[in-house]
Amino acid sequence: MYREDTIAAVATPPGEGGVAIVRLSGPDAERIAREIFLRTGGKGGALRSHTLHHGAIRDPNSGALVDEALAVIMRKPKSYTGEDVVEFHCHGGQLVTRRVLELALARGARQAEPGEFTKRAFLNGRVDLAQAEAVLDLTRARTETGMRLALEQMHGGLSQWVATLREELLDILAEVEAAIDFSEEEIDHLPRQTLIAKIDALKVRIVGIVASYEWGRLHREGARVCIAGRPNVGKSSLLNALLGAERVIVTPLPGTTRDVIEESVNLGGLPVALWDTAGIRDTDNPIERAGIDFTRRHLEAADAALVVLDGAEPHTAEDEALMRAVRGKKGLLVLNKNDLPARLDRSWLAEAAPDKAIVSVSAKSGAGLDELKGTLRELLLAAPSEPEIVLTNVRHKAALERSAEGLAAAAAGVKRSLSPELIGIELLHAKEGLEEVVGMVDNESILEHIFTKFCIGK
Ligand code: GDP
Repeated sequence: MYREDTIAAVATPPGEGGVAIVRLSGPDAERIAREIFLRTGGKGGALRSHTLHHGAIRDPNSGALVDEALAVIMRKPKSYTGEDVVEFHCHGGQLVTRRVLELALARGARQAEPGEFTKRAFLNGRVDLAQAEAVLDLTRARTETGMRLALEQMHGGLSQWVATLREELLDILAEVEAAIDFSEEEIDHLPRQTLIAKIDALKVRIVGIVASYEWGRLHREGARVCIAGRPNVGKSSLLNALLGAERVIVTPLPGTTRDVIEESVNLGGLPVALWDTAGIRDTDNPIERAGIDFTRRHLEAADAALVVLDGAEPHTAEDEALMRAVRGKKGLLVLNKNDLPARLDRSWLAEAAPDKAIVSVSAKSGAGLDELKGTLRELLLAAPSEPEIVLTNVRHKAALERSAEGLAAAAAGVKRSLSPELIGIELLHAKEGLEEVVGMVDNESILEHIFTKFCIGK
């Protein structure tokens, strides 16, 4: 498990602030607090738990005042780590907190490692692994949705879901194990179809949650959309229209936008980074060449492409080149300039890009932009409404994928009349996948990997 010593760290970020917190956790936390903190009007007796006390922090050797502070003790087991926890709320300032920390270290505490408080919370069963990871997600959340998803996971949304599925899996496992106890001939008496149906149903639910990862990732990190099209079709105008502000210089000269411009829009709660790129075309100009290579790289990296075409002009060789470049890429065809008479051949479009939906807009008048936003959002999310549980962590995704694989193999095994022992092994794999998500499977290297990503004091 872990050394039962007392750890200490400054829990607030460095720099000046109103308040800074020094946190201690472990068997000596209270003793250390008593040695360095004297409650105002108190005689040094025991401090009431879960109560803020005003007092002074002094160096017990010299008697020198270090800070006037608030202290709180949270006796185990009702604390963040499940151990005795003491927090000193000092005046914000690096020197003050460092002195308080030094006093604690001098009296036997050890400087905490990154994430060690949360790791102890996990090891003491205060939270499971998925919840501990959600703490990290929460501190790093950059969007409202990212924050909400982290909070839901921290409150055990994912953990409960895993627990329910694990129970169902254990039921199936029990049925299969019961069959093991009977003789070979009786395996055939297993209600095979029912068993397959149960395993499949479980698998479908897990696969559904695995798919929610993409939904969660896009909401947390934002989607990246590349606007591509030959010069002068109106890419910059479209970007401005989507942003609702004049951000990009629009000129009637081809090839003005050489660098990639990134702007963010909010598509119904989904943060989207829009990349306005140089067009893709043949050119001898080395600067433009570089821009075009850049466009290709961005096209590859983007989650989707908005392929802009000038609806008021016949298509050109460059449009054809672009269609080839975006083949197989998730994207929409945006027919711009629909305020002008249509001159683009739609049948050519349908042939050149049969996999892409067409949205007709005018960046100039704003017509069709709402439809464009809605269609793009649906394209990116694949599912318009929020899944029941949203996975946000690639580790959870990988573990659940293994679980689903185990179930698929088990179902195939039942179909092929494999022995219940072999089916049981696959079901056990599936069970382990579920257990890995919440950390029921012991794995020190997973723990190291997860907790070192935290900051010190968390
Ligand atoms: P880009 O090179 O693809 O970024 O194209 P721009 O956004 O710079 O636009 C090229 C020219 O087309 C400019 O003169 C724009 O004013 C014009 N333009 C862009 N969108 C529209 C539109 O929807 N309708 C009309 N009539 N003109 C447009």
